[in-house]
Amino acid sequence: MGKRIVFATNNKHKLEEIRAILGSSFEILSLEDIHCDVDIPETADTLEGNALLKAEYVKSHFGCDCFADDTGLEIPALNNEPGVFSARYAGEEKSSKANMDKVRRELKGKDDWSARFRTVLALIIGEKKFVFEGTVNGKIIEEERGSQGFGYDPIFVPVGYEETFAELGNDIKNNISHRAEAINKLKNFLNENNQL
Ligand code: IMP
Repeated sequence: MGKRIVFATNNKHKLEEIRAILGSSFEILSLEDIHCDVDIPETADTLEGNALLKAEYVKSHFGCDCFADDTGLEIPALNNEPGVFSARYAGEEKSSKANMDKVRRELKGKDDWSARFRTVLALIIGEKKFVFEGTVNGKIIEEERGSQGFGYDPIFVPVGYEETFAELGNDIKNNISHRAEAINKLKNFLNENNQL
């Protein structure tokens, strides 16, 4: 088994994705694995700030090398909203359906429906902090299409495709997604810096 590193999440979907990309050279531990049952506050007003908050929490309370992520859907015609508020854009119940409805409501009458997902990963190794970013450009469409994925996937069509992320499925999404790009940057960094 490879080097141990904590990923500050309990999201099974993200853990699976990251384990698949990083391979067996790393042993990825979740928050549950290190017995951290706190809902780490995400009170920053940027994706970078929230990713760092989560990684710093784990480092200071558990003393382990770790990384954390934060993702947002950024829509230029809406001043890059929902951005850091993507999970709770339509309210604290964090409903994907209500969030998608609100995005389409806000875009009504606007010409530019382009959008992008942006993921920021914050890594803390020893005392050093590093940030990696991944983006995927695309557009929002009016109708929901597809049943795979999560969040805003049914209304997001990535550049170069006709289908939404929810229609394309995980095999394609995990090759081109914002999160995959950020994770691959993290992987290359760890390899280049002999962190294995
Ligand atoms: P998180 O920071 O990864 O938890 O993402 C915050 C919110 O952004 C989620 O609750 C989703 O609504 C949305 N989101 C993040 N990643 C994706 C994605 O890959 N597809 C669709 N929506 C996403």
